[in-house]
Amino acid sequence: MGVHVKSWGVKSMKTKWGSCNINAGRIWVNLELAKKNPACLEYIIVHEMVHLLERLHNKHFISYMDKFLPNWRSIKAELNGLIFE
Ligand SMILES: [Zn+2]
Repeated sequence: MGVHVKSWGVKSMKTKWGSCNINAGRIWVNLELAKKNPACLEYIIVHEMVHLLERLHNKHFISYMDKFLPNWRSIKAELNGLIFE
């Protein structure tokens, strides 16, 4: 992806699956992802890493997601409980 994550960690979060501090190059992933399909973890990590390229959830962000993880929409749907749950 051409981005460098300086540090990352796992913690419990109540409202989101992951977060990215763009200035620090630091990513957090939610401990709850351990209970999900591993593809969900990959989706969150790719999503947070794309934030190092694009801060906002805009069309540039979506085109990066399409490039790096083409099936991200179905994984997102699974993660949000829209399918399989
Ligand atoms: Zn995001």
